[in-house]
Amino acid sequence: MQDCVFCKILRGELASEVIAETDDIIVIKDINPKAPIHFLIIPRKHMNDIQSMAHVDFFYGSKIFAMAYHLSKTIPNAQDFKLHVNSGKTAGQIVMHLHVHFIAGKLEGAL
Ligand code: 5GP
Ligand code: ZN
Repeated sequence: MQDCVFCKILRGELASEVIAETDDIIVIKDINPKAPIHFLIIPRKHMNDIQSMAHVDFFYGSKIFAMAYHLSKTIPNAQDFKLHVNSGKTAGQIVMHLHVHFIAGKLEGAL
């Protein structure tokens, strides 16, 4: 059992605003948004970052793209968007549970 913030959210121990869910991933609003639309696409499985993923878990990459596609089609003003990953502490990752930022609405200067 992992003690990280996103695992706590996934277990329902911490509140969050859920935008979408599948068997593999969850999408929540970022608590400190850097743009009008700023979501976090989070695998349900705890993985620290891309470089520590097992090869069998690379399917999460396509699940995340499929979710970005779905969000762009269903969220108003999100037809164009950025996906952003900080992978590793020196790349700026703060929460060490792999996640992808979905950013839209006003993209200039956002991440
Ligand atoms: P990164 O690790 O890629 O630098 O970014 C982590 C992101 O998670 C930040 O944008 C931060 O605002 C967000 N975040 C950190 N803690 C929480 C939390 O408890 N709830 C939510 N919804 N977002 C969080
Ligand atoms: Zn975790």
